[in-house]
Amino acid sequence: MKGMLNFTIGPVMSSESVLAIGNEQVPYFRTAEFSEVMLENERLVMQFAHAPAHSRVAFITGSGTASMEAVIMNVLSPADKAIVINGGSFGERFVQLCQIHGIPYSEVKLAYGQPLTEEHLASLDGQGHTAFVVNMHETSTGVLYDMEMISRFCKANGILLVVDAISSFLADPFNMEALEADVMITGSQKALACPPGISLIVLSPRALERVAESKTRCMYLDLKDALKNGERGQTPFTPAVSVLLQINKRLHEIDALGGDEYETNRTKALAADFRQKIQTLPFKMFTNSPSNAVTSLSPINVSAFDIFITLKDEYQIWICPNGGDLRDKVFRVGHIGALTPDDNTVLVDAMNDMFRRGLIR
Ligand SMILES: *Cc1c(COP(=O)(O)O)cnc(C)c1O
Repeated sequence: MKGMLNFTIGPVMSSESVLAIGNEQVPYFRTAEFSEVMLENERLVMQFAHAPAHSRVAFITGSGTASMEAVIMNVLSPADKAIVINGGSFGERFVQLCQIHGIPYSEVKLAYGQPLTEEHLASLDGQGHTAFVVNMHETSTGVLYDMEMISRFCKANGILLVVDAISSFLADPFNMEALEADVMITGSQKALACPPGISLIVLSPRALERVAESKTRCMYLDLKDALKNGERGQTPFTPAVSVLLQINKRLHEIDALGGDEYETNRTKALAADFRQKIQTLPFKMFTNSPSNAVTSLSPINVSAFDIFITLKDEYQIWICPNGGDLRDKVFRVGHIGALTPDDNTVLVDAMNDMFRRGLIR
């Protein structure tokens, strides 16, 4: 796979310094030194998420879905009545998790590529809901939801706001305190640009209270246990040690450059550069409320999946295909990870070459 240029939405390309850590022996982790790394990770994640005072972070060894499930199990309960926004496969995942764990919910099903609007929310106003569960960026379609609108709704209804920001954290501006969000979830393989293996959950004081009162019975995803161990910078079970060291390196690098604001601006500029460079190609934007993390595009006369295959096999470039109903209609180009405007040029040159060959028309 050496030499592949990766524009998928995770795992994404890592910096040389992050890669170098993956090349080292894995250190023993029940040490004061590793605890120090973990406490720093917690502090920097809370800083970049703009978490309110007295928040905490739980680190889970597992992909993003493990943290989604941990939140549904430990923060919500069968006494809740949740609103779940389902605009694609990640929203659908929350619907399934609520079903599996017996959480009552109202589902807002959106057509693929469509944003959430005031009209959707109006019908839910004052209906006795207790929690709002949303994927800030529905990565499967590239739609970024209006978090300020959602936040206003949650404040007006006095309800808990649970945000899966797995592909948005460090790519789109996110301020947990201003939004009064209670939970933020992210994962190591998206804009954190590390290998997969770690997901993490930032919990506000209100969410921490819910965890403390939770009657959920489970071992591996028990957040009480994770938070208790986390007080001394440890985890209940062997974590993905190397990935946590890589996260530490990456968080320090971002901090030195100007923090989350620097990184979201860099991502925004990279996305704008790509969107400008493809203007002469026969693609339509699949959504008009895109995240900085992804550009989802519909080719006009050819299969989106075929474009993915040709770029992979003939140009050594990965973009992200879609599945299901959107397989031939949409492909996605990511702007997260160690990518530059020059990399965008390489991809757009390949697309222009495919255009000349009649493979894009
Ligand atoms: C990537 C992603 C996830 C998690 O997927 P995993 O494969 O479990 O890491 C969840 N939600 C969103 C919005 C994502 O982009």
